[in-house]
Amino acid sequence: MTEVRRMSEKVKIGFYALTSCYGCQLQFAMMDEVLQLLDKANIECWFMLERGSDEDKEVDIAFIEGSVSTQEEVELVKKIREKAKIVIAVGSCAVHGGVQSWDKDKEFNELWKTVYGDAHVKFEPKMAEPVEKYIKVDYKLYGCPPEKKDFLYALGTLLIGSWPEDIDYPVCVECRLRGNPCLLIEKGEPCLGPLTVAGCDARCPAFNIACIGCRGAVKDVAWFDSLALELKKKGLKKEEILERMKIFNAHNPKLEGMVNKIFEEGG
Ligand code: SF4
Ligand code: SF4
Ligand code: SF4
Repeated sequence: MTEVRRMSEKVKIGFYALTSCYGCQLQFAMMDEVLQLLDKANIECWFMLERGSDEDKEVDIAFIEGSVSTQEEVELVKKIREKAKIVIAVGSCAVHGGVQSWDKDKEFNELWKTVYGDAHVKFEPKMAEPVEKYIKVDYKLYGCPPEKKDFLYALGTLLIGSWPEDIDYPVCVECRLRGNPCLLIEKGEPCLGPLTVAGCDARCPAFNIACIGCRGAVKDVAWFDSLALELKKKGLKKEEILERMKIFNAHNPKLEGMVNKIFEEGG
């Protein structure tokens, strides 16, 4: 565990954006609680709040939003890592590569041309990837965007010299606690709650909408295979299952193999 604060000192915080919609930053910048932090922390770099921010400054905690989608961003995340004691990946883009990496197995130049044609750009683009592909990430805030309570929990825990816990159970746990009817079992809808990290209080199923997995798969125990088997029994084809599961998990190394196995076994 890295200690970030001596009682007499203010903690230095940086918030950095890679390729993203800026939704995670906006979520946190709009929080009144950020103002209450100011007697305990100095915000050294956060371009959304302070135009004169300097990304070369050393910080105790670096929050990084967005996927690594250009060569320049590869260098930027390495620089942030060198200057930060603790790096936190913020949101699905930073943690999982985001929806922009959904079709990652397609040839990149072909994808680029589909969207941008022959347009000239100033940067060197590449397939969107998670921050962890390039640097060590110490903690992850899941979601698109993450919940405000998760941000406060992580930051508050670090400020008192402790370490935040990871969430290792799925959305279904919160869904059952809320007493929602199960969209997967009772209505046959392709809900991804069984493999998705909890923390959103099962927001979508509570409104009768099947989860699309925006918080990403539960670390190390993603049940892609058992959910694929259930969806197969309900008549979904392998391609349909993979397409849905990949929206927020395209870079998960287990996904494809676990789903393929279900169809190879004829289970
Ligand atoms: S995780 Fe979602 S809200 Fe955050 S930057 Fe990416 S797309 Fe935007
Ligand atoms: S509706 Fe979805 S999240 Fe809720 S219990 Fe059923 S499968 Fe899980
Ligand atoms: S229910 Fe699923 S899609 Fe909806 S907010 Fe939660 S994790 Fe995201």
